[in-house]
Amino acid sequence: MSEPEFGDIQMHVVRPKEPVVGRVVESTPCLKGRSASFVRHVAIDVSGTPLAGTFRAGQSFGVIPPGETDKGKPHPVRLYSISAPTWGDDGEGNVLSTTCKRLIDEFSEEGSDTHDLFVGLCSNYLCDLKVGDEVLVSGPAGKRFLLPSEPEKHDYVFVATGTGIAPFRGMVMELLEHPDGPRKSEVHLVIGVPYGTDLMYDTWFTELAEKHDNFHYHTVISRPEVGRRMYVDQYIVQTSDPFHRVLGSDRTLLYICGIEGMQIGIYRLLQELGVAEEYLKLPDEGLDLATADAATIKRVKPAARCMVEVY
Ligand SMILES: Cc1cc2nc3c(=O)[nH]c(=O)nc-3n(C[C@H](O)[C@H](O)[C@H](O)COP(=O)(O)OP(=O)(O)OC[C@H]3O[C@@H](n4cnc5c(N)ncnc54)[C@H](O)[C@@H]3O)c2cc1C
Repeated sequence: MSEPEFGDIQMHVVRPKEPVVGRVVESTPCLKGRSASFVRHVAIDVSGTPLAGTFRAGQSFGVIPPGETDKGKPHPVRLYSISAPTWGDDGEGNVLSTTCKRLIDEFSEEGSDTHDLFVGLCSNYLCDLKVGDEVLVSGPAGKRFLLPSEPEKHDYVFVATGTGIAPFRGMVMELLEHPDGPRKSEVHLVIGVPYGTDLMYDTWFTELAEKHDNFHYHTVISRPEVGRRMYVDQYIVQTSDPFHRVLGSDRTLLYICGIEGMQIGIYRLLQELGVAEEYLKLPDEGLDLATADAATIKRVKPAARCMVEVY
């Protein structure tokens, strides 16, 4: 079995209590079409701050929204996955970016019939920022959701739902658009979204898949206008070629990022394919993931070749 090594990792170079000032250099919509959601690619220049050159693809950074809580304290930091490669959106490690989804909903509380508009504080603040605006940032955070230091020793299955695509933008760039040339590893990106119009960076990923035979871009739509609903785990189980082969190989690293709870279906499919012990630390007495409840499955820890970031 080939376990990944991650090399030097810097973390918490800038603490949320003493954030640095970044400047927005890009804010562009990144959905494929008109959609009920709003997702923007937001890029922030941190040059001249200790954050510059410290982050790696797959890590997160913090955003401190302005204002105070009801208790008169600064708002707590919110984390956002870095969607830039390690060399940044600018090629020099000075510009980090993320894929930010506005949190807009109706207020909900058990036992209450309040149905006012609920607007997430930080995601909307970040999406509202214009090019040139300042923003308080911290980071980087995360020590495992990273590409290995010897990327060609491995093949990759990246599974995302929604803005879970963010770290994979940077990782895919790093694997296929590396200044030393594209890596030869087999790379599968599976992205699940409700509607086709919710796909993010879709043109870029599609063009990349046309250009590189070793990159495979799989889109899974859970509420299609026609046809059957499909979720990422069902798609992987049903698409036996190539997934059963790739997940059965000891070169493969599995990365899961997106909506909290998505790992449950993926863990179950790993057991269905007979490879759960390759990717998960299961109790010695065994665990039937098909029948175990969600709370039990959420306590299962990923093993060395499985990286999970859900929120
Ligand atoms: C490691 C990590 C990486 C992340 N990466 C990304 C990313 O790449 N892109 C991205 O967009 N987000 C990402 N997030 C999520 C992000 O950190 C924020 O949680 C998100 O943007 C919402 O923050 P907010 O300030 O907008 O919402 P808040 O104002 O903090 O509101 C969210 C809170 O309100 C509650 N809430 C939500 N809806 C309702 C409702 N209808 N009624 C009542 N209460 C409600 C929630 O339970 C939650 O506690 C990531 C989180 C983590 C931990």
